[in-house]
Amino acid sequence: MSGPTSGPPVTDQPAPIDLMNTLRADRHAIRDELTSPAALRDWLVRMTGEAFAAPRPAELVAARRLRDSLRLVAAVSTGDPRGDSTWPTDEVENALSVVNETASWRARTNLVLRAGRVLGDVVFHTSPVSAALGDVAHEAVEFFAGPAAQTLRPCCAPRCVLYFVKTHPRREWCSQTCGNRVRAARHYQRIRPQV
Ligand SMILES: [Zn+2]
Repeated sequence: MSGPTSGPPVTDQPAPIDLMNTLRADRHAIRDELTSPAALRDWLVRMTGEAFAAPRPAELVAARRLRDSLRLVAAVSTGDPRGDSTWPTDEVENALSVVNETASWRARTNLVLRAGRVLGDVVFHTSPVSAALGDVAHEAVEFFAGPAAQTLRPCCAPRCVLYFVKTHPRREWCSQTCGNRVRAARHYQRIRPQV
């Protein structure tokens, strides 16, 4: 089949879904967009609009672990038909633990007294990067625990591995590119000589 097999990034998704979608299908293989600390920083900047120092290698590992865990949670939550649809309970529980644990990394604000004035003082878990990952994980907890989880869909266009929030009733694919590919494939099926 000709034509592009991966479109532009789907950019209208909540941060946890966007993180899941850093694993994308290329024309021939799965492409991982989080392969370096710099790539993680770029993603965080795009999501938050804030500046970050270069993440440490361990923070990249944590981000990828959160991403992979969220993908498994999404697969179970949506009954994703793209894989073999069997998710061992221990693997799912491990993924949930990763999400829950990462959510506890959020920064918190303590009240402090400075020069006679009461002020808020932001306390990071370990670093701004891990706190930002904590925000993403916390958003994921709220998402999957609430009604929004019912709107999550796997994109079932050929070879697509992305998830998307079904923002309107007629949205079937993650992107226009995937929709066009599906329509092209259906057209090809129709015009192909019957054997
Ligand atoms: Zn798609």
